[in-house]
Amino acid sequence: MALKLPIYMDHAATTPCDPRVVEAMLPYFTEKFGNSGSRNHRFGWEAEEGIDWARERVARLLGANEKEVIFTSGATESNNLAIKGAAEMYEKKPAGQTGRGHIITCIIEHKAVLDPVKRLVKEGFDATFLEPGPDGIVTAKMVEAAMREDTILVSIMWANNEIGTINEVREIGALCRKRGVIFHSDGTQWAGKMPVNVEQDNVDLLSMSSHKIYGPKGVGALYVRRRNPRVRLVAQQDGGGQERGFRSGTHNVTGIVGMGKAAEIALQEMDAEGARLLQLRQKMETSLTKAIDVSQINGHLEKRLPHLTNISFGFVEGEGLMMAIKDIACSSGSACTSASLEPSYVLKGLGVGDELAHSSLRLSLGRWTTEEQVDFAIENITRAVLKLREMSPLYDMHKEGIDLSKIEWAHH
Ligand code: PMP
Repeated sequence: MALKLPIYMDHAATTPCDPRVVEAMLPYFTEKFGNSGSRNHRFGWEAEEGIDWARERVARLLGANEKEVIFTSGATESNNLAIKGAAEMYEKKPAGQTGRGHIITCIIEHKAVLDPVKRLVKEGFDATFLEPGPDGIVTAKMVEAAMREDTILVSIMWANNEIGTINEVREIGALCRKRGVIFHSDGTQWAGKMPVNVEQDNVDLLSMSSHKIYGPKGVGALYVRRRNPRVRLVAQQDGGGQERGFRSGTHNVTGIVGMGKAAEIALQEMDAEGARLLQLRQKMETSLTKAIDVSQINGHLEKRLPHLTNISFGFVEGEGLMMAIKDIACSSGSACTSASLEPSYVLKGLGVGDELAHSSLRLSLGRWTTEEQVDFAIENITRAVLKLREMSPLYDMHKEGIDLSKIEWAHH
C-alpha cells in the first residue's frame, strides 16, 4: 500500500485523538450534556459521573488519590497554577516586597514554566535558573547546590519536550522532601508515556496534558499532593469554586471524559508501546548517524524518552533542510518567532552552536507510527542532507581536512 503523505513525526507537539477516546466522548456532546454543577436533575448527575469516571482513571495513571487530581485546560494552566499558586501560598514576605522566597528551575524548561517564574521574579521572588551540561540532565546534586534557606519551590520537568532527556525526578523529590521544599514537575511529555507513581517518585505537584496522550486538546490535569505534606495553593482563577476551589469554571465535561479514556488506554498500553517505539527510534538514529557523517544526537544518549530523538546535521542549512523534507511533519531547531529565525533556546542551553541548532530535527514517534514510515523518513532525510551538502563549499573544505574552526572569517 502506498504511504500516505505527509507522515506525522511530531507527536511531542501533539497527538491525534485515539478513536476509542472519541467514542467515549461522543455521548457527552449531545445526550449527557449537563452541567456537573446542576445538582437537581439527571443531566447534572450524568455529567458529574463522567467527571468522576475520568478522575479515577487519571489518578490511577499517576498512582494518586482521586481527590488529588485537579482538571485544568492543559499543561500551561497546570504549570501556572502550580508555580504561582505555590509561590503565593508559601511566600516569606507579603506581595509588593522583595525577598518573597526563592524558586529553583532550569533554563531548558518549557516556556509555560519559565514565564510564570519570570513573572514571579518581577513580583519580588528570587529564582535560580539551573544550567544543565551538554547532556541536558538536571541532577539532584545541581538542585542541592542551588538550595537556599529561603527556597520555597523547585520546578524541574520530568522529560524535556525538545530533546526527550529525563531528569532525576525521584532524587530531586527526595531532596525537596528532606528540606521541606515543595516540588513541582512538568510531566507533560512523561505522564501517560512512562510509569508514574507520585508516592515513590516524591512529587508534590505534577502537570500533564491530554493532547500529548491521544486525548483531546484544551484539557489537562494538575496533581496536588494531599498528604505528607498537604500542599496548598492560591487559586489563580476565582468563580464558582469547581475543582475544590482550585480551578473555578464550568467543567469541560467532554474533554475531561476524553482525557480519562486516554489515561486508561495509556496505562494499559504504555509498556508495549514504549518498547515498540524504542526499537523504531533506535533504527532511525543508527541509520541516520551511520549514513550521514557530522551528525549528532542532542542530549544524553541513554536517559531519554523512547519515542523522541533530536539530531543535528552539520553543513546543511536549517530552512533548506525543512523544505527538502516536506513529506515528513516534524519540528526543527529553529523557533520561527516573528521575523527573526532564532535557534532553539533548549539546544543553545546545552551549548549546541547556532549552526547545528538550526539544522536539527526533532522526530517524535507515536501510536500509529509504522516501520514503513520510519524507513521512509530515514531515506528522505539522508537523501536531503547529502544533496544539500553537494552545494556546501564548507563541507568540501571539511572533507579536505581543513579545520574550519581555525579560519578567520571576514565580517562585513
Ligand atoms: N510543558 C511541556 C513540557 C510541553 O511540551 C507542553 C506542550 N508543548 C506544555 C507544557 C504546554 O502544554 P499545553 O499545550 O497542554 O498547554
